[in-house]
Amino acid sequence: MEITRRRLLEDIGAVGGAGAVYLAMEALGLAIPTPVGAENFSLASGSGNGRSVVILGAGIAGLVSAYELSRAGYKVTVLEARDRIGGRAWTVRGGDRIEQVGRPDQHATFDPGLYFNAGPARLPSTHRVILGYARRFGVPLETFVNVNRNAGWDFAGKVQPERRMVNDMRGHLGELLAKAIDQHALDKEVPKGELEMIRQFLAAYAQLDEKGKYVPRGSSGYSVEGGGYSQAPVPLPALGFGELAPSRAVGLPYVFESIWDMQATMLQPVGGMDRIAHAFYDRVRPAVRLNSPITAIRRVGSRVQIEHGRGKMTEADYCICTLPLPILKRIPSDFSPAKKAAIAAGPAYLHSVKLAFEAPRFWETDDSIFGGLAWTDRKNENVIYPSDRYGAPKGVIVGAYCAGWTNRDNPDAFANLSHEERTRISRDSIEVLHPGRSRLLGKPVSVAWGLVPYSEGVGALWPDFDPRPGGGGPGRGQAYLELLKPEGPIVFAGEHLSYQPTWQEGAAMSAHEALKLVHAMRREKAA
Ligand SMILES: Cc1cc2nc3c(=O)[nH]c(=O)nc-3n(C[C@H](O)[C@H](O)[C@H](O)COP(=O)(O)OP(=O)(O)OC[C@H]3O[C@@H](n4cnc5c(N)ncnc54)[C@H](O)[C@@H]3O)c2cc1C
Repeated sequence: MEITRRRLLEDIGAVGGAGAVYLAMEALGLAIPTPVGAENFSLASGSGNGRSVVILGAGIAGLVSAYELSRAGYKVTVLEARDRIGGRAWTVRGGDRIEQVGRPDQHATFDPGLYFNAGPARLPSTHRVILGYARRFGVPLETFVNVNRNAGWDFAGKVQPERRMVNDMRGHLGELLAKAIDQHALDKEVPKGELEMIRQFLAAYAQLDEKGKYVPRGSSGYSVEGGGYSQAPVPLPALGFGELAPSRAVGLPYVFESIWDMQATMLQPVGGMDRIAHAFYDRVRPAVRLNSPITAIRRVGSRVQIEHGRGKMTEADYCICTLPLPILKRIPSDFSPAKKAAIAAGPAYLHSVKLAFEAPRFWETDDSIFGGLAWTDRKNENVIYPSDRYGAPKGVIVGAYCAGWTNRDNPDAFANLSHEERTRISRDSIEVLHPGRSRLLGKPVSVAWGLVPYSEGVGALWPDFDPRPGGGGPGRGQAYLELLKPEGPIVFAGEHLSYQPTWQEGAAMSAHEALKLVHAMRREKAA
């Protein structure tokens, strides 16, 4: 008997319901693909009338879900453990408390108007869904400088401006390639005409002289800058390979801006990253119950029953669960054994640490650095200069953003240190980059994300995603497919269920997928 696609889908639906049909349609290439912009997503107005949804977690995935479901007429309840919304999209301001498991609380005392994006800080232009919502809600954006050739690199105990490292490396590599061409070492590899083209290209690209030698002409910086009248500029001499590649740790900074979602200039909401989460909150506030930690997830007939707080219950027709996997695996539920196993076996979570100081803006006034990142092979990995309020008297400088870019062991090692020790390392690092100025650094706070209750990590390090050195393993396997499947009326969302994990974009896109599943189930019930 010939099995048509329609018949196959009907059979799958009879056994697994609308959710299973939807996933099968996706596998067969029949479902609507993930929309590329928020403007393209909406559920039909009124399509949710008479139906209720409980959403677990008020991070970006939960807030996107709450907003879209409310617009479609669903009765929505969002249960959030914390006393604030936003989840990992957390901006710390003066007066905020920083809680970390097993560590004393810290209290931020930044001046009014200053903030520290302890979680997300930057948005690439390609993140159309989250940027689409920012546009729709009128959240003003400004440039986040992600790459600054004027910032310093501190590797193997030597500080050099990024500009010098990048240009000298390109010059030397270009010179080597030109030599190979001139000595006919590549004649068998590349046709003659193309070799000539490459040779010409290298003259400009690597700044080679007529003999094919790299001679820095100022792109790497000057020992004396050009001035008025008789003050001619003096270009810095070229560094040698040993100084340009002093350790393996220096590799990634050379190509950082080439990572697809790490552009040289990115975007940030004016006033702090949490402005986007708050724009959602402004639109769904009555539906959100803060201070409501979920303690059990159950199915009752075709509905769901969520236990939260001290013995409170919320029942609904459907549930969207956005809880991070390290937390979900400890919450009692009647999920299938396969689901429980997939949650337990879930991906490792990245345990980055961020630390910030308040200070007068010496990096701008003394060193002409406006935004961008400094790189180091010390444990703090990055110093991040603020991209907001240039020229203001003070700013918040990130003294450590340790995510394993230069050494995969750094995040856990840095997290294991005391706050005081993290502060000392970050202070020393800034002292090396800006001699004599570390005494201006004050009010340090640090956040080790693996220790943050209700987060327990930055996000899912799926092996096929990890862009850090040594990352990029095989695909996600069966466990990922299992995590995507609904459990009856319960569907799942969160950055971990996307191909843009550890980004708000992934959280928002996974929410759209979960909403499509709820919508499919709703239509099935109505039919
Ligand atoms: C240091 C750091 C840097 C980052 N950098 C960027 C960046 O530059 N740009 C970017 O776009 N993204 C970045 N991200 C990633 C981004 O923040 C996340 O991908 C996104 O915010 C995750 O959203 P989510 O809704 O999936 O999860 P979450 O934000 O974790 O939301 C889950 C919610 O569930 C709640 N919850 C947990 N347990 C319970 C419980 N038992 N009961 C009730 N509620 C519970 C939590 O409090 C939380 O509000 C960064 C994250 C971190 C930590």
